[in-house]
Amino acid sequence: MRVLVTGGAGFLGSHLCERLLSEGHEVVCLDNLFTGRKKNIVHLLDNPYFEFVRHDVIDPFKFEVDQIYNLACPASPPHYQYNAIKTIKTSVMGAINCLGLAKRLNARVFQASTSEVYGDPDQHPQTEAYWGNVNPIGIRSCYDEGKRCAETLFFDYHRQNGVDIRIVRIFNTYGPRMLANDGRVVSNFIVQALKGEDLTVYGDGSQTRSFCYYSDLIEGFVRLMNQDKITGPVNIGNPGEFTMLELAEAVLELVGSKSKLVHLELPSDDPKQRQPDISVAKKELDWAPKVDLKEGLAATIEYFRKDLGL
Ligand code: NAD
Ligand code: UDP
Repeated sequence: MRVLVTGGAGFLGSHLCERLLSEGHEVVCLDNLFTGRKKNIVHLLDNPYFEFVRHDVIDPFKFEVDQIYNLACPASPPHYQYNAIKTIKTSVMGAINCLGLAKRLNARVFQASTSEVYGDPDQHPQTEAYWGNVNPIGIRSCYDEGKRCAETLFFDYHRQNGVDIRIVRIFNTYGPRMLANDGRVVSNFIVQALKGEDLTVYGDGSQTRSFCYYSDLIEGFVRLMNQDKITGPVNIGNPGEFTMLELAEAVLELVGSKSKLVHLELPSDDPKQRQPDISVAKKELDWAPKVDLKEGLAATIEYFRKDLGL
């Protein structure tokens, strides 16, 4: 098949492009390089079945493809808040452009949605049936509401035009190719520990997240995309739930660092807890994560050691 991956030069997108090429598909990678980088895909540029197109998903595009994965959107809070209007345009107009193309081509289209659609959840763990608790006017809303609107568009195109959709709700995922300045907690803690700097814990560090290693996530993507039973939304994530203090301790231990913890102000609307209920993925996709936190952190630490020359 010929497959379009928007956001294909980013952390997750570049791993997905690699996976699709390894399965014998042709890949068109569309990216404006806002938070992605050529370095993530440079090893693919010589492959005749791989094509990089520098383009903004907000502007219409036309390619002859069989499948579309829509991943284009900054994912880290400092990056998506840098230009909030651009972020919501990316989610909403990017979805419309992908869905319009899928409709014309009769192609299957996949949306990288997020656990952020659940906001600061008052149901725990979160099932796909939970509608969420999202502030529509806060500093995270450009991302959360943009992704919620994209899901709405996916279902409207599905109901109204019969577009063949798949939606995954991704829970915090980490691994090699995250940017050192990404701003998300795993990369921040690892880079700080490697440099011997203080680890910046926001708030008292009792808030929780559930961290999934990238390879498990990509396996979930491909399984959802290539089955005919369900459209989603499907939660894909690792149910292992940790406080930010526990994460900091794990990183310090694995790096062998003597860095201290420093507490900074908790950003507004920061969710207090998050854990995926993955029953649907287990039952419908026969999917479950394989890599536990320590194993995934160790591999990510090795990546950053090399990437930063530390
Ligand atoms: P990332 O920032 O590394 O990747 C996003 C990619 O999209 C980058 O390459 C960026 O340059 C590109 N992009 C951004 N705006 C664009 C635009 N207007 N036009 C074209 N390209 C654009 O982040 P990631 O972690 O790889 O996330 C990939 C997708 O998965 C995103 O849609 C994100 O919302 C979603 N997601 C990720 C996580 C996670 O924990 N990693 C969690 C939930 C959802
Ligand atoms: N966080 C932190 N220190 C950092 C970066 C983030 O304590 O240097 C916290 C943040 O406040 C949140 C959690 O870690 O409670 C996860 O943040 P991240 O930005 O990785 O993901 P998200 O909040 O989008 O789930």
